[in-house]
Amino acid sequence: MQSKRIFEAPVTVLPGIGEKRAQSIKQLGLETVGDVLFSYPRTYKDFTQVVQPHQVEVGVEQLTSGPLTNLYERRISQGRRLIQGQLGGMTLTWFVYHRGPGSSYLFRKLERAKQLWVYGVAKPGLFGPEMSSPEFFLTAPSHQGLMPVYPLMSGISNEQRVRWVRAALKHLPLLPEILPEPLLSNYLGRQEALQEIHFPTSWSSREKARERLVFEEFFLFHLGLQRGKKRQEGIRHKPSGALVQAFLDNLPFELTKGQQAALQEVAKDMEAVRPMRRLIQGDVGSGKTVVAEFGAVKAVESGGQVAMMVPTEVLARQMAGRLKASLEPLGISVELLIGNMRGKDQDQVRQALAAGSLDVVVGTHALITEKVNFCHLSLAIVDEQHRFGVRQRSALLGKGNADLLVMSATPIPRSLALTLYGDLDTTEIRDLPAGRKAVDTRLVDPARRDDVYRYLVSRVRQGEQAYVIFPIIEESETMDLKAATQEMEQLQQGLLAEVRVGLIHGQMGKEKDQIFQAFYDHEIDVLLATTVVEVGMDVPNATVIVIENAERFGLAQLHQLRGRVGRSSKGGICFLLAYSTSPHSRERLEVVRRSNDGFFIAEEDLRLRGPGDLLGVRQWGQPLFRLGDLREDRQALQLAAEKADAILTQDPGLKSYPHLRDELNRQTW
Ligand code: ADP
Ligand code: MG
Repeated sequence: MQSKRIFEAPVTVLPGIGEKRAQSIKQLGLETVGDVLFSYPRTYKDFTQVVQPHQVEVGVEQLTSGPLTNLYERRISQGRRLIQGQLGGMTLTWFVYHRGPGSSYLFRKLERAKQLWVYGVAKPGLFGPEMSSPEFFLTAPSHQGLMPVYPLMSGISNEQRVRWVRAALKHLPLLPEILPEPLLSNYLGRQEALQEIHFPTSWSSREKARERLVFEEFFLFHLGLQRGKKRQEGIRHKPSGALVQAFLDNLPFELTKGQQAALQEVAKDMEAVRPMRRLIQGDVGSGKTVVAEFGAVKAVESGGQVAMMVPTEVLARQMAGRLKASLEPLGISVELLIGNMRGKDQDQVRQALAAGSLDVVVGTHALITEKVNFCHLSLAIVDEQHRFGVRQRSALLGKGNADLLVMSATPIPRSLALTLYGDLDTTEIRDLPAGRKAVDTRLVDPARRDDVYRYLVSRVRQGEQAYVIFPIIEESETMDLKAATQEMEQLQQGLLAEVRVGLIHGQMGKEKDQIFQAFYDHEIDVLLATTVVEVGMDVPNATVIVIENAERFGLAQLHQLRGRVGRSSKGGICFLLAYSTSPHSRERLEVVRRSNDGFFIAEEDLRLRGPGDLLGVRQWGQPLFRLGDLREDRQALQLAAEKADAILTQDPGLKSYPHLRDELNRQTW
């Protein structure tokens, strides 16, 4: 493939990636050659030299090597071990999670090492320099210079990723520049920046590369945000008539005040010429779906089509089921479109969309592939907004001149919302449907862990269901995952031996969906999960959630997780098991225990941890920006906003910037 389309080619064109591997590395966000190029190193290891242990400098990241002596392991609290050893005059320390008998996996590995290569930062200690939790290698690292370190998953090594990146970089000369001329004088060229971000020739050139790519990222972000806004002419939907009235009359419940206000705002926006760009923020369970349904009915009544995009296939199925139940009785057709569906069925849905015979489609990002065309898309709905990038949203809108309704259960504090969603008008639904009880939240000492599980089992015996969540901050941390899977298995064989248990983690493929489905169908009583249980999971029969190592989660995330239960009149109970007793982590958990207000919790999370975590990798597994940091790069973000505004004012359709426009319309990278 000798054209720039090579960057849209599937990863299987790269050496060493077959169909099966291509399937599994989707989790790393790698589907196309472009994805490989635009997935940047997490960090670098400075392997330019190996320092003798006695020459190690305090405060600098470096590689050192020598024999490991005086190695021992000690239990410091329930589930925690301390490992120490000596390398030359330096003390090495690791902390690991390990419950149960025997020595930990890490200890056994270190015990076998004759010589150790250690990479980390030494700090001054009581008896000479110390390194805490350094990375180590049992053989000498082969790469010299600045070694890129990529996010990984089990079965994929950094060396493999390095090889793929090298192969992808061979196509670099075909990659078009996208920044307009006058801006370019301030930054590295696109090709050079990509080369340098992966394999920097020095720290300073890597910094220049980052600067360029961060600006590019922010610039595209703001172009995406502002593009819709500049367009003055949108679809003017008809005033609500008999169909909307029938929908409202058929509702099985009274709308809350918040819902009523939201419906009014949506109706007003949709009827206006100005395109609707509205964000509905409401806590889990506040009933946002009905707002989406209302918009859909209204769009269809005006002769339009509706696309609703949700982040996962499980959620898409659930949502399609819900919309079918509520809309089909009104004579509105609803279909599902996901990648994991028979090709023939997909074709059928796509044809119906293009022909205009299908009213509403619910799907994953399968909706934004080039193959999908609408006859008259007039409303695009994005649920669980934080899981999608702005570009995906922009790509969906690119399918028509549609109104946009975005729904988010993660309240974004106002200060942040302005920078991030500057283009969206916001509606907050602050009340919950009547009769909904707040989830009873308990902070529990790990000493009472067994009691918690006994209680959980008693609820399961009454026919209810439960979640148990384990923290894996970085799914790539093999150590972490191993510890968590071990714990899950121990639970399965021990305290939860009497009930039907399903076990999921982020590195599972399709199986994960099947287990979710089984839980949904109540073929499983307790779901043990290392990943965030899908945000929109709606299993009303689930009443108990246990969160292990709760101190390792973000507050907004805990609140989200807790929202999985208490979705029916049976109420819900949430146990936060905290193994760290530092006052800071106690203060954080107290916020969640005391408050059930997602908006308040989000503000507190922002105050206690800063914006990175609230929107960042930790929280949702998918960062908003690949490189850019909301705090550090604030100036670049501001500049990008100004430049985007300027260029769109002068050329709203980006007609003079075809490469830039292409890039903006592309979904994945
Ligand atoms: P979320 O805002 O989390 O997306 P949903 O729209 O899924 O919330 O609603 C959660 C549950 O509450 C659903 O089962 C829905 O049918 C129900 N529900 C929504 N609005 C009301 C209401 N006004 N009164 C009673 N139940 C409601
Ligand atoms: Mg929802």
